[in-house]
This record gives sequence, structure tokens and C-alpha cells, in this order.
Amino acid sequence: MRKKAFKTESKRILDMMIHSVYTHREIFLREIISNASDALDKLAYRALTDDSVGLGPDDLRIRIRLDPSARTITVSDNGVGMTADELETNLGTIASSGSFRFKNGLDGDSVPDVDIIGQFGVGFYSAFMVSSSVSVISRAFGSDEAFRWESDGSDGYTVSPAERDGFGTDVIMTLKEDTEEESYSEFLDFYRIRGLVKKYSDYIRFPIVMDVPKTRPVETEENGEKKTDYESYTEEETINSRVPIWKRSKDEASDEDCVAFYKEKYYETEDPLTLIRADVQGLTSYKALLFVPASAPFGYYSREFEKGLSLYSSGVLIIDRCADLLPDHFRFVKGVVDSDDLSLNISRELLQHDRQLKTIATSLEKRIKRELKSLLEKDREKYERFFRVFGLQLKYGVVSDYGAHKELLSDLLLFHSLNKKGMVTLDEYVAAMPEGQKHIYYACGESVSKIEALPQAERIRDKGFDLLCLTDDVDQFVVELLGKVGETEFRSADADDEALEDAAEKEKAEEAEKSSADLLAFVKETLGDRVSAVRISRKLKSHPVFLTAEGGLTIEMEKYFASLPGEEKPKANRVLELNAAHPAFAALSGAFASDRAKAEKYARILYAQALLIAGLPLEDPTAYSDLVCGLMD
Ligand code: ADP
Repeated sequence: MRKKAFKTESKRILDMMIHSVYTHREIFLREIISNASDALDKLAYRALTDDSVGLGPDDLRIRIRLDPSARTITVSDNGVGMTADELETNLGTIASSGSFRFKNGLDGDSVPDVDIIGQFGVGFYSAFMVSSSVSVISRAFGSDEAFRWESDGSDGYTVSPAERDGFGTDVIMTLKEDTEEESYSEFLDFYRIRGLVKKYSDYIRFPIVMDVPKTRPVETEENGEKKTDYESYTEEETINSRVPIWKRSKDEASDEDCVAFYKEKYYETEDPLTLIRADVQGLTSYKALLFVPASAPFGYYSREFEKGLSLYSSGVLIIDRCADLLPDHFRFVKGVVDSDDLSLNISRELLQHDRQLKTIATSLEKRIKRELKSLLEKDREKYERFFRVFGLQLKYGVVSDYGAHKELLSDLLLFHSLNKKGMVTLDEYVAAMPEGQKHIYYACGESVSKIEALPQAERIRDKGFDLLCLTDDVDQFVVELLGKVGETEFRSADADDEALEDAAEKEKAEEAEKSSADLLAFVKETLGDRVSAVRISRKLKSHPVFLTAEGGLTIEMEKYFASLPGEEKPKANRVLELNAAHPAFAALSGAFASDRAKAEKYARILYAQALLIAGLPLEDPTAYSDLVCGLMD
């Protein structure tokens, strides 16, 4: 029998398979099972149009046999099989095989990214990642003759006549010998193989059967005494689930079933907050079963967290955690996507596959958004629970990519409202605005109670306007990026705002500003570079001082940057505002007229108080304490 050489391209892929240090060798089983399933599909298709096939889908199956003494794994199917010619063209060259998709990746001498091997089917040749030799015995449907294709993967293969009962194919893989680094014997273990079938091929629609090891009690008699012994035996069983839960209709799989699946698959103890079932027919059709977890997984907000959905195609797991299917702002979603369209395309062109994936990702993003919106409208309590856990993620989503997702996410945001004493959406805030209120007022701070006590909050509340309390670092940036809700702009409680002033107040402040010009200059000089200006405040009512900022950077932003690692921290241009109507101001003026040294002390104390109210650290707490105690003498 003459050995035939592999075509050059096949040879290169084979070399790569054999010498790959690829860590996911286990996928060979997925590939071989997937080929068997294709062969069964082809025959099932033929049976639809050709009565002489005489087969129902239930007669078709895949069988895996392990023979540890011969070191073989055999995967058999009763599918279409292959003629001698087909064995040669399909397995001897890669031109018509799935491995073909690799060809384009093999430019010159470059070796494609090994990860691709795991993500996309590499087909039949992957058997050589674990086998020292592979035999394929096949009898084509409708033929009386069987043939054996055999190769050790090194330079060529042989095709010779063989025997086989009935049509179909056996792929017999003789495993490589174990080395110090690699164990191939593990693939002879029933539990390991069953685990792999469950992991990658659980939803192949045909039964995958194996001899399952079992024990049973047997009664024996020894010296007249009855004893129970246990004997081992095997029983043929179907080891795959066949119809995945996400492919079943609502009648076939209840929400409870889906929740049970979620808990089992993701080792969750809590029910998900909500589940999403999608069955989309269109240019790219897909089914999806998605879950929003009730709590954030450990390390969720760290870099280590990996987002992604499991991607299946025709019941075969393609990528366990496909990151491209989920935008970052919805990275908390878990679940499964299955698209038969994808398989057709991935086996042809990688690029096209990419586009299909994008279409699905876009459609999923819209779907998740819709689901969250509906949760917000229909089950407020649950949504607020969701928002407490993942709200921060949505806010990051608003500010990421220069605000590219703000339209999508803004109506999912909640902020604490001082009036409602609870969370409101931005639309709810605007809808509740009394006549005369022109802006959405917000103030930043560490906690709601601290914001409530801020001097600048007072005048807003006195007007009967609501104030949003922004307590997350990112909030300030969210508001900045959103700019407005509909036509209503945001306005910081720190900002000057004519709408909050009445004419008399305004006049008073302007007058005080003029008459105290020398005093203000003196305070500025005393504080030096610590502040960029000292002014009479138009927003203070009962409080003596207040620190604000001018220019783009606010005090809250400065605090946020200060909390980040790094050397260079941007600083806000601080403006000290004094309440001219406060007794402390009168005391300062008095001292300025009679005792400059005392006035200096007062200025420093007032500035320190403004820092404390703003939540900024004191430059020198001991000096401040001395200053205050000095006044007690
Ligand atoms: P792919 O399956 O992606 O086309 P493979 O390299 O895995 O690529 O297989 C090459 C070809 O060999 C298949 O397209 C199919 O025609 C044939 N083949 C492989 N396994 C079987 C099988 N069990 N039964 C029938 N044909 C098979």
C-alpha cells in the first residue's frame, strides 16, 4: 500500500497541531464529535427527501468507546460516512475541510495565534494534538464497501479496504505516550471524557452514548453465611442533555427551570434579579438566555473580573466567555448565546464571523437595556436593588468612551433626591420641578447627610427646589457629560445662580463687595496662593463661609483625583466666599479696622472652616487648633 503525502498546507497545520504547546488540547474531542454530528445531520437531511434512507432522527447517534489497554478513544457515528475518494479529499487535504479557514491566517511562515485554535473549529486534524496515530474507518451511506484512512500525522496517510458493519464512521485515536509534562492517559478516563462532552458538546442534538461504569450489589454465600458484595458493570447511557434550555420554548422550560440552570452553571446560591430570554429571527438569528445576578461577584469592580457570555453554535460551545458579546456597561450580565448562523460563517471566513458577532452584540445590548428599563418601570424595588449593586457600572458606562453610551444609559440612572428622601430618575426629577425652577440642582459630597448640611444646599431647599445628592466619585463626571436632561441643564449647588437670588439680596451683595474691597484684598493676601480669589457670597444664608472653585475643575474633582494613585494631582482654583450678613464677617471687619494681627487669625480660621465644610484636609490641623484655642484666652 502506497503512502500518500499530505498537501503542503495540510502538512503545516498538522505540524502545528502536533507541536503546539496549546493548553486546550481537550478540544479535539469537541471537533471529532462535531464532525460526527455533521455527518448525522447530512444523513438526517437526506432522509427528509429520500424515503429509502428509512431512518428517523432517533436512530442516529454518536458512540464513544474507551480502551485503556490499547490506549484508544473511538468516536463512532452512523452518519453519511465517506467513500475512499472522500476519505482522501476530505482528510488528506484541507482544501475542503474546516481547517481551511486557517489557510488565510497562514501567511508566509507566520503561525496564527494559538488562541484561535481554541475559539474556532480546527477540525479533524486536532486529533493529532493528542494522538500518535489516527485511523478512520468509514462506509458511505448506500455503499457496500468500507475503507480505512490511517496516519501518524507526520508526512502522509494510507487508504485501504476495510470492514465495517453498516454505514457510518469510526474515528480511532491512539493516544500519545505520557511525558513528564503531559498526560494523555487522562483521556482514557470515563469521567474526564464525560466531563468534556458535558462541557463542549452537551447540546449536540443527537444522543452521545457511552458505557457508564456502575456497581450493583450481589448476594453471595460463604460458609453458609449470606453476604452482600458489589460488582462492577457498565450500562450504555446517553451522556449529553441534547436540547439546551435556551432552545426550549417557555412551555418547555419554565422560568424556574432557567433559574435552576443559572444556579447550577454559575455556582450561584441566590436567584438572579431578572432573566432575559431572546429568540431573534433576522439577518443573524440567535437565541439567548441571559441573567442579571442579584449581587456582584467577588472582585467585580477589579481589573481581574472577566466579562463574557458563552457562545454556542449548533449545540457546540465555541467560546466559553466571549467578551465581544457584551459591552462593558453591561458586563455584569451572565448567560448563553446560540446562533446557528454563526457556524456557517465561522467555518468560512473569520472576518465575516466578526461582523455577525457584532450584530448579535448590538442586538443584545438593546435587549438588555429594554429589560432593565422595564424592570425600573414595573418593579421599582427590585430595580433599586439592582442599582445599588451595579449602578456604579452604569455610571462608568456613561463617562467611558467620551460619553458615547450616554443616550443609552441616562434613563437607567438613579440619584438620591433630598425632597423624596429616596432614589429618583432624572426624568422624575424634572417632572417634579415646581414652576420657576429652571435647573436640575445637584451637590457632591461623601454622604447624603453631609450634603444636606452643606451651606450651599440651604438656599436651594428654601426655594422649595429638590437637590440631587451625588455621593459617588464618578457622579460629578456623569453630570458633566450628560449636560442636560431634555432641555433642562444641570446646575451645581456651588455655582452662582440668579434664579436663587432676589433683587434685594443681589444688591446687598454687590454693595458689600464694593465696600469691603480692602478687606477682601487683605484676606486674599493673608491666604496667599491657597486661594485664587476671595469674594462676598451670594449663596450663603446662615453659614459664614464657603469654598468654591472657578475654572473647569471643581473641588469634588480635585478630591477624586487626589484619591487616585500618581504624582501629579490637578488642583481646583479655590475661591473663598464670605457671608457678609454673618456675625463672623462683622468680627473680621472689626478686627481689620483695629487689629491686623487678629484679622489675620480670623481669616485663617475662616479659611480652615471652609476647608472642613468642603471635606478637604486641613494643611496643618495643629496650627488650626492653636488658632482657635488662642481665641479662648
Ligand atoms: P469541517 O468538519 O469543519 O469541514 P474537518 O477538517 O473537521 O473540517 O473535516 C473535514 C471533512 O471530513 C468534513 O468536512 C467532512 O466532509 C469529513 N468528515 C470528517 N469527519 C467525518 C465523519 N465522522 N463522517 C463523515 N465525514 C466526515
